[in-house]
Amino acid sequence: MEQKKRRELKALVSELKEIRGRHTELVTIYVPAGFNLAKSMEQIKQEQSTAQNIKSKSVRKNVLTALEKIIQHLKLYKKTPDNGLAIFCGNVSDKEGVADIELWSIEPPEPVKTKLYRCDQIFMLEPLSEMFREKEIYGLVVLDKSEASIGLLMGKKIEMIKHMDSIVPGKTKKGGWSQARYARIREGLLHDFLKSVGAIATSKFKEVKDMKGVIVGGPGPIKEEFAEGDFLGYEIKSKILGVVNTAYSGEYGLRETVEKSYELISQASVAREEKILSRFFDELGKDSGLAVYGFHETTEELQEGSVEILLLSEGFDWIKAAFECSSCSYTEEKILPRSMTSEQKCPKCGNMMGVKEEKDMTDEIIKKAEEMGTHVEIISTDTQKGEQLKELGGIGGILRFKA
Ligand SMILES: [Zn+2]
Repeated sequence: MEQKKRRELKALVSELKEIRGRHTELVTIYVPAGFNLAKSMEQIKQEQSTAQNIKSKSVRKNVLTALEKIIQHLKLYKKTPDNGLAIFCGNVSDKEGVADIELWSIEPPEPVKTKLYRCDQIFMLEPLSEMFREKEIYGLVVLDKSEASIGLLMGKKIEMIKHMDSIVPGKTKKGGWSQARYARIREGLLHDFLKSVGAIATSKFKEVKDMKGVIVGGPGPIKEEFAEGDFLGYEIKSKILGVVNTAYSGEYGLRETVEKSYELISQASVAREEKILSRFFDELGKDSGLAVYGFHETTEELQEGSVEILLLSEGFDWIKAAFECSSCSYTEEKILPRSMTSEQKCPKCGNMMGVKEEKDMTDEIIKKAEEMGTHVEIISTDTQKGEQLKELGGIGGILRFKA
């Protein structure tokens, strides 16, 4: 998902997250990709007749108005957009008895898979927030003594990259071998198996840029042996977030491992962000010269190649815009926060200038960072420190050496 759409989506989600209805009168609708639009319309009309039964007169009126607004909005479409549609509508007024029915609608950057109608005091945002987890990649190793699966978790998508069967025999003694000898052979084979799983996982995971972590799963005790032993390369082993117990191995096991890992993953991502931001604010506080912030200061250092880690807030929204004066046709190009585009005055005649063309700066900055070997961290605004970075202009850097 490209940066811009990702941020638009995130901005919408954080805006809607703040809204609380005074009553159960906020309507959420998800129309899945490929779903018949006329059918959706039909269902909303059914909801209209159900809403006639709402006891409170004002709530009833607000819900009916919202549903009518949604129907009018859906009429703008000939068919369901390629990725489906998410609509949020309801009374957002904070004064009792005063109605302010607003509607938000988004064609998400990824296909909507959920079909949902909900009338509640909050908007249902989970299907949208799931979409911006996409950029995060985790390594998965699920194993027991008979097989191993190596996979990747990319957002919500699980991809199996390698499956391996072991030749480790069962625990029961076969043939004429002594019990001890049999155990030794078995142990040796198991060790060899874990070694090759570790080697393959290490080489596959090393190919993934910015892998956030590794999770090891499996039904037996062998997963712990694998996670704790020297089977994975050091740099991959140090990324292990945890070990989870599953009922299955193989492809089911991968899925089970992911289901049981969300808590681990969300803790890890918050912790990582916290660590980087602490370092950033620490350097700023010490006035060590090893941290910069603000658009111009940071991009200058970036050009110089002195930025080790570039911090980019989800709330960062700068563009390069070509302005044109509506009365004297004077033109000018500026790099500025999107929020300031509506207040640009013509330096020649003093009239307001309009945007003729614009380009998002985020992708350009990230490209530059890649060129310079700078590591980029997208920082959420969900934490206090993340919010602080946004207030500092949404962009900053930890430097390799003193500016
Ligand atoms: Zn002018």
